[in-house]
Amino acid sequence: MMSVPFLDLKLQYHHIKPEMMAAIQAVCDEQAFILGPRVEQVEQALAAYLGCPYAIGVASGSDALLLALMASGVRPGDEVLTTPFTFFSTAGVISRLQATPVFVDISPDTFTLNPDLVESRLTSRARAIIPVHLFGQCAEMERIGTIARKRGLIVIEDACQAIGASRHGQKAGTFGDFGCFSFFPSKNLGGIGDGGLITTHSAKARDLLLALRVHGSRSDYHHDHIGINSRLDALQAAVLLVKLRYLDSWNARRQENACLYNQLFQEAGLLDRIILPKTAPGNVHVFHQYTIRAAKRDQLMAYLKEQGIGHKVYYPVPLHLQECYHFLGYQKGDFPVSELMAQEVLSLPIFPELTKAQIVRVVETIAEFYRTN
Ligand SMILES: *Cc1c(COP(=O)(O)O)cnc(C)c1O
Repeated sequence: MMSVPFLDLKLQYHHIKPEMMAAIQAVCDEQAFILGPRVEQVEQALAAYLGCPYAIGVASGSDALLLALMASGVRPGDEVLTTPFTFFSTAGVISRLQATPVFVDISPDTFTLNPDLVESRLTSRARAIIPVHLFGQCAEMERIGTIARKRGLIVIEDACQAIGASRHGQKAGTFGDFGCFSFFPSKNLGGIGDGGLITTHSAKARDLLLALRVHGSRSDYHHDHIGINSRLDALQAAVLLVKLRYLDSWNARRQENACLYNQLFQEAGLLDRIILPKTAPGNVHVFHQYTIRAAKRDQLMAYLKEQGIGHKVYYPVPLHLQECYHFLGYQKGDFPVSELMAQEVLSLPIFPELTKAQIVRVVETIAEFYRTN
């Protein structure tokens, strides 16, 4: 019986170990860990990769979102629209600033914010909107952009799961006023710890962000703003410079894996039991997650666990139903699509080094389950 891990970062590490260790050693030899030339280099490399004039390295994807909201001037009592079907920090950062997350349900096909539902949620207190490019594909940015322009909203893209993804040829994180990325180790471009990045087209916003990430100071011990301490480590920058060279080939492997899953699930006649992930027209999906919707999901999970097949549920509880957001006053039933997805979604192993035999094994195991269920 072959077990299949959900994610195995060691395989990638072994492949690039000499280059990575040399990069880490160079930083240690210099004993210069905070900001400096490597951070500037990776900021420039990522700005060029993404096709955006400015990129600012910060301490995490969550801080990228927080700092983008701070740079947008979001204040206590403001409303920020986003989806309830995302990682917690998308909404958590809004609350951090004593602003109010206003949730908008998603499209069941792409798991991303449904533009049709935005206008009905807008009030005069709305300041910004955070579409999330969930699982590795872009939200419908044209329609979101049109609404935002009409209603004077700042657009902050949560592109933490979508580095390298594009829509009509334009990269995720370059559509809005700000794009936010995470280098959490399991992301498509992962560091050896926490890290993040903010992109912007505005030189003024860039200058503000450079200050906000160092306590709001533009020169030592002079503070124009009240900022935070949130910098990308030189060590992370050095590792990311190595890994960025491989990002496109790793994303291509994820896409090939997704294609093979789609083909095998279809050949196994399982399309009446599971719904395959869809890629919206114009999108290039980078499959941070390969997420199906499965009948009898919880029973299937128990079977996969027994058989040693890695899997995860992103996300089991939509944010409007989280304990900490009870005070917002949302009820069960308020966001039916997100709630249904929370019950049906199942993410399968998709990492670049996955072998064909492993993918075959995952599909066969799922087929076995549905033969008797
Ligand atoms: C990973 C992630 C974040 C947060 O990134 P961290 O680097 O872990 O702080 C935010 N939003 C989404 C959608 C994510 O997947």
